This record gives sequence, structure tokens and C-alpha cells, in this order.
Amino acid sequence: MKRSFIVAIDGPAGSGKSTVAKNVAKKMNFLYIDTGAMYRAVTLKALREKINLNDADAVADVARRSKVGLNTNNKGRQRIFLNGEDVTGKIRTPELTRCVAFIARVKRVREHMVKLQRKLGESADSVLEGRDIGTVVFPDADIKFYLDASFKERTMRRFKELKASKPDIRLRDIANDLKVRDRKDITRKYAPLKKAGDAICIDTTRLSIEEVTDKLLGIIKPYFVPPAFLRKQEGGTKYARRADP
Ligand code: C5P
Repeated sequence: MKRSFIVAIDGPAGSGKSTVAKNVAKKMNFLYIDTGAMYRAVTLKALREKINLNDADAVADVARRSKVGLNTNNKGRQRIFLNGEDVTGKIRTPELTRCVAFIARVKRVREHMVKLQRKLGESADSVLEGRDIGTVVFPDADIKFYLDASFKERTMRRFKELKASKPDIRLRDIANDLKVRDRKDITRKYAPLKKAGDAICIDTTRLSIEEVTDKLLGIIKPYFVPPAFLRKQEGGTKYARRADP
């Protein structure tokens, strides 16, 4: 059976990977899989149930009872479902973001999520973004990218993003949250944030989203037959895979 084409994009918060992953998926008509959203959905359930986040058994049990689903509409917008409920608008608060690390560090939670991520990725050509895609989820991904940017730039990006919905938010608090999150993601025992040895590294500090997207597309497209030779499909342009890039 033909395996789907997998693009892995890893990197820390604020590196630009989510927007770029979304753009690339839309352009290539690939499935976009936001793995961070999956950990966030489980975190929401754990917070709602008020369980002790330091209790690995309780956290693993919440993950086991969480049916996380992703659904991308034809505008490239992804919705996240938790046991059938659309939780897209509820998983990005600063409070929840601070708690995700407690969920993401539990081995059984990760095993559960990785299984789901592999199943989704195997169902169609996909762009997966997260922290451990190229190292753990799809170590044999067709192309791996590792996006990074200076700490200052990543902080500013987060600040601008959150300022719209929280005008009183302080740069200092964002920098602090980011520092703590980076440390937790990098130092955790299971599947820490790490560049895969064969990943293509891109420093996005001085690049626009469009420039980063173009860089990635320039590397991915040679694997596919240009769309001009193929019929247009609803919701985007379908590229056909070449036998050899
Ligand atoms: O990408 P996002 O910022 O939404 O991820 C939220 C958190 O989920 C990360 O800080 C990390 O702790 C966790 N995560 C993870 N593995 C992934 C994706 C996200 O541990 N593949």
C-alpha cells in the first residue's frame, strides 16, 4: 500500500510553524495536523474535571477518555473536537497554555496521542506540526523541518497575537511564560522538543510568514508533479507525487 507523504514541522512556540504549516497544507492540498491542539484539548478536559495535574495516572485516564478529532474546512480552518464538542475557541487561553506541559509530559498520554497522529497522517498526505513529529511520531517523514527564531522575536510574535484579545497583557509575563514553556518542552523525559538529525533548520527571525512558506514549498514541490497538468479539485489544487523528486 502506498504510504502517504509526510511533512514534519517541529520547533518552539512562536517560531511561526503553525501558520506556515497551515499555509503549506493549503497550498499542497495536504491534511494539516496541529498536534499541539490535541494536547491542549486533553488539558481542557483535565482542567474541567479539576484533577490533580501532578497525578500521572489521573492525567492518563483523562487522555484515555478524550476523543480528540480534527476537521479542516475548505478555507483551511481547522476545528478541534473533544468528545464531539467543538473546543477550538477554548484551548488557547494563557491559563490553559501554562498547564499543557503537565499533560504533555505523561508517557501514556503521549503514546495515546502519537497513535492518533500516525493514524491521521497515514490517512492522507499531511503536514504535521509539533515538538516531536520528526523524532518520534514520524521519524521516517519524507521531509522534516525545524523552525526556530530568537527568543526576543518569538516573544514579540506572541505578544502581538495575544494583545488583540487581551489588551492589558504584559510583555514581561509573555516572556516569562515562554521561557518556562521552552524549558519544560526541552527538558521533559519523554519526547522532548529536539531537532531531528536529518531536519532542515530554518531561522525565521528575520523572515516573513510568506518567505518561510515559500522556502518550504520550494523544497516540497519538486516531489510532486506541477498542478498545471492536473485537474483542479475543490478546496485547492491537488499535486500528484512524482516517482522520483
Ligand atoms: O504548539 P502549541 O503551542 O499549541 O503546543 C502546546 C504545548 O503542547 C507545547 O508547549 C507542548 O508542551 C505540547 N506539545 C507537545 N508535543 C507536540 C505538540 C505540542 O508536547 N507534538
